[in-house]
Amino acid sequence: MIELKTPGEIEAMRATGQVVARALEAMRQVSAPGVSLLELDEAGRDVLREAGATSPFLGYHPNWAPSPFPGVVCASVNDAIVHGVPNASQLRDGDLVSLDFGAVLDGWCGDSAISFIVGEGSATDLTLIDATRQALEAGIAAATVGNTIGDIGHAVDAVARKNRLGNLADHGGHGIGREMHMEPFVPNQGRRGKGLPLTAGLTIAIEPMFIADGRSDYTYDDDGWTIRSTHGARAAHFEHTIAVTEDGPVILTAL
Ligand code: MG
Ligand code: MG
Repeated sequence: MIELKTPGEIEAMRATGQVVARALEAMRQVSAPGVSLLELDEAGRDVLREAGATSPFLGYHPNWAPSPFPGVVCASVNDAIVHGVPNASQLRDGDLVSLDFGAVLDGWCGDSAISFIVGEGSATDLTLIDATRQALEAGIAAATVGNTIGDIGHAVDAVARKNRLGNLADHGGHGIGREMHMEPFVPNQGRRGKGLPLTAGLTIAIEPMFIADGRSDYTYDDDGWTIRSTHGARAAHFEHTIAVTEDGPVILTAL
């Protein structure tokens, strides 16, 4: 079932989105050579605690995962694409870090992701990050009343193709509201005009995940969570929770 939100409910979701945005910014600022992924997780927990919010990631146990997720942030470094488990490994200069974070406040969920370089990045990494961010922006721009889910996927995938980047197979965005993952699925590929029509009050997460070598296959780490590019290429991930409104798309997880 697709859940449509009233303007008041969208404002409540924006409050959650602000917690998510603040946490991502706090974790980005903490990121430096020698800092562990567990320390980033701790910075995320601090923001949740101060806001009186909880984590939809902590203890999340979908049927495909071998164990509940142990942290509040997915921290995916270099060739890890998404779902990286925050562990004791330390960041190094030049690492490409993707952080995916969620919060629940007053029963409403928010979900957002950013990618960045620790210290100096290579031109290749910066291009990958820029293109993935552009794909998110293109997907959001397509999220207008009268368009369809297919228009969003088409817009995202066009940026991957133009930059000859891999577009992670079988993964994408999702409806979000009272739960983190709801209908509809929001694929990162699609055909113009196809799929669910977008209507005012629809709230979705859009989240391109691109891989530098142009391929889209992946493997799982032994932790059963971390998704890694099969051939070792680096990956980037950006995500926002947005609302489709009569006045256009509204980003709920931007500061
Ligand atoms: Mg996310
Ligand atoms: Mg998501």
